[in-house]
Amino acid sequence: MEREVIMTCQRCHGLMVYDRVFDLEAEFLELPIWRCVNCGESLDPILLRNRQSQDQHSKTLTAEVA
Ligand SMILES: [Zn+2]
Repeated sequence: MEREVIMTCQRCHGLMVYDRVFDLEAEFLELPIWRCVNCGESLDPILLRNRQSQDQHSKTLTAEVA
């Protein structure tokens, strides 16, 4: 299985690390995301998939935990 996947930020092309957040609105599901260590941009693989079919709904689902 490929666990070491290198992602680069689409905004600043910096290194993105794999992180996890908890979406309280989704019954405490643990959501895997990519987060840029350079600019802090978060990238949700699930949102990327949803964006293909629901572009209007994608931006409102961004979950961030301070
Ligand atoms: Zn970045």
